[in-house]
Amino acid sequence: MKAVENMDNQEFSMDDLVALCKRRGFIFQASDIYGGINGFWDYGPLGVELKNNLRDAWWRDMVLCPPIGPDGQPLDIKGLDTSIIQNPKAWVASGHVGGFNDPMVDCKESKLRYRADHLVIYKNKENGKMLAFLEGELDNSQLKKLKKLGGSDNLSDYDTALMTDLDASEYPNIVGPDVKDAGSLTEPRAFNMMFKTYVGATATEDDAAYLRPETAQGIFLNYRNVLSSSRVKPPFGIAQIGKAFRNEVTPRNFIFRSREFEQMEMEWFCHPDEAKMWMDFWMTERHNWWKSMGLSDANMILRPHDKDELSHYAKEGYGTSDIEFKWPFTRPGYGELEGIAHRCAFDLTQHQEHSGTKMEYVDPQAPDDRFIPHVIEPAAGLTRGVLAVLSEAYTVDESRPSKMFMKFKPELAPVKAAILPLVAKDGMPEVAQKLYMSLRKKMVTEIDVKQNIGKRYARHDEIGTPFCLTIDTQTLEDQTITVRHRDTMEQERISLDNAEKYLTEKLNA
Ligand code: ATP
Repeated sequence: MKAVENMDNQEFSMDDLVALCKRRGFIFQASDIYGGINGFWDYGPLGVELKNNLRDAWWRDMVLCPPIGPDGQPLDIKGLDTSIIQNPKAWVASGHVGGFNDPMVDCKESKLRYRADHLVIYKNKENGKMLAFLEGELDNSQLKKLKKLGGSDNLSDYDTALMTDLDASEYPNIVGPDVKDAGSLTEPRAFNMMFKTYVGATATEDDAAYLRPETAQGIFLNYRNVLSSSRVKPPFGIAQIGKAFRNEVTPRNFIFRSREFEQMEMEWFCHPDEAKMWMDFWMTERHNWWKSMGLSDANMILRPHDKDELSHYAKEGYGTSDIEFKWPFTRPGYGELEGIAHRCAFDLTQHQEHSGTKMEYVDPQAPDDRFIPHVIEPAAGLTRGVLAVLSEAYTVDESRPSKMFMKFKPELAPVKAAILPLVAKDGMPEVAQKLYMSLRKKMVTEIDVKQNIGKRYARHDEIGTPFCLTIDTQTLEDQTITVRHRDTMEQERISLDNAEKYLTEKLNA
């Protein structure tokens, strides 16, 4: 895979990141011992901590301690945890059963399947030859193919377009991504991404149900329940974190696009007249939140959607803006991390029509002002967010034995402090054990006695532990320990008694 540059101009590839995740126990291919299953991933001992830390930070900043609104008062946002399987009528009303379709292309020769809006067609300006590649930067083997079949590997010799932008008469002339001859790609057809299952023992079509493709609908289904039980009134929000399932045509780029993933979504219900103001508010707020999780300005942009890529609900109103991240596989370009959409009154109106339940809000103090709230929805991927945090943290440093380290924000780091006796003798392990027993209740702490100290530092650099506490001969004499700082490798001595206070201050800084 082509090497990419991180912020500091140092190089790492997506393969390096995937290998680290496997080696150190962040993320594994699901069903690894059976050869995996495409589009599904398992989170290992460190990955689950990292994911939970990101999830908890979002929950804290959205639900437990929501942002301050334009009037200087904290916003009102309630949490929810709804069922993955709902009455299938809900998905008809939301438009997912009818409209949650991607244009899909089959290759008759390779039997592979692609999304037509992900196939970039390179058309040689001189000879008109057309080759299709999956979007993203071309790697070396693709450039070779371009040279062999297209006639040149100089990208300026080609015009590019998405397959969906081409005229159908041109399809037979395209060479598919995994074959050598033109004419094997079918016309794009709509493919529904909902995972279907059957509820109960009989498994007839009457028992068909769907795994939710987004967490948002569970919120709309409970809008009235929350309104009547929780002393809220518009503007207010309902938030949910949980699994979502989409039978993606081409799951790829590690956990970026998988078939089972997690979302962090909040629906903000407001008066239609205030929708524009809240859309702007949430765009700024969410952008700042990702920054507070350690993503840098250099790696993030806000991008308003073009009119023709808007979802079925966002064609009117103030559209959708994406927070995009510079992923290792899109650099120098960007790809979606979170979408902020003005869903208008679409979902509540649909559920009102299909269920017969009134969704109108009537303010008891101003009963003439009746409205179905408009919704601003910041919808983020939790698992995609984990990939952003991993990519941002990966820092190449040739001067270290590990050649790299993970520069996680301490709040997100799976392990906060490692306790390392210099040698496994002379009473050092006992001092280490005592310190470990007191610190483990306050923060995620590891005690690590095996191997030489260099190897242990290297492991903690690779898993992004911000602080390594070392017990050495001097500790036995004056009750001080060294603290090694992950990012600078600087060491300082602090007193053993002060370790907990010291770390608590640094971790909360
Ligand atoms: P895309 O255009 O990448 O398919 P989308 O616009 O369909 O994404 P939304 O429906 O807005 O995505 O979902 C909100 C968020 O959920 C996305 O910003 C992304 O972070 C995450 N997400 C969506 N699909 C996937 C997936 N297949 N795998 C992992 N995360 C996903």
